Amino acid sequence: YFIEQNCIHDDLIQIDAYNHKHMQRVMRYRNGDQVVCLLPDHRTYLYEIVNIDQGLLKQVEEINEDHELDVDVTLIYGLPKNDKFEFVLQKATELGVKRIVPFLSQRSIIKTNALTFAKKNERYLKILKEASEQSYRQMIPELTSLITIKELSHYLSDINLVAYEESSKQGEHACFARALNQDFQTITIIVGPEGGFDESEIKQMEALGIEACSLGKRILRSETAPLYMLSVIGYSREL
Ligand code: SAM
Repeated sequence: YFIEQNCIHDDLIQIDAYNHKHMQRVMRYRNGDQVVCLLPDHRTYLYEIVNIDQGLLKQVEEINEDHELDVDVTLIYGLPKNDKFEFVLQKATELGVKRIVPFLSQRSIIKTNALTFAKKNERYLKILKEASEQSYRQMIPELTSLITIKELSHYLSDINLVAYEESSKQGEHACFARALNQDFQTITIIVGPEGGFDESEIKQMEALGIEACSLGKRILRSETAPLYMLSVIGYSREL
């Protein structure tokens, strides 16, 4: 359970109405049951329910299981239509992304600029926070302001890959797998919007040392490709 600061009183928690309802009505917890709580300091603790009717919990111990990926993944995402972007915010959080960089690429269908994008920031941060709560162990990713190709170089990592479906025609299947076999602490992955990247954009990215790579022969939807890459990265770190 994700706990707000004002619910915490030393080693006791007076649970808020939303979590209280979930514990009592949905999970049907009773006094003596134990629950995992994520506190605002991003630390995780085991709490015991001392009074379920009043929603009162008592701290038992800190849980030091770290569920974060052991590498920092930055997703630079060619801004797709709004609902797709919000979907990717939620799912990328669950998959352990560290930073999401919205990128206004040449073929981004959505007509927006940094100012109008910033007005939606509060909504986006709410989605990230909820996604973090739902997968309660993931840190809330950083969401940067909207960038254009001019700012791309500010978000590069040890390894930098742009998913480019034309690469598969050049037989460049292995580069994603090969890249993950290298030793790295940070990785940046770049995925295009519904219309993909313009060849001139790919050329500019390659000039920055970003490697164009195929994700295989199937053309994935714009909102599927980042999740595929994050899943493969996450899984490859577990092996
Ligand atoms: N050109 C695509 C088409 O023919 O429909 C449109 C772009 S695709 C829907 C959206 C993005 O997903 C692409 O810009 C790319 O970043 C990524 N992508 C999808 N399938 C891919 C693949 N097989 N290999 C590499 N990237 C892929």
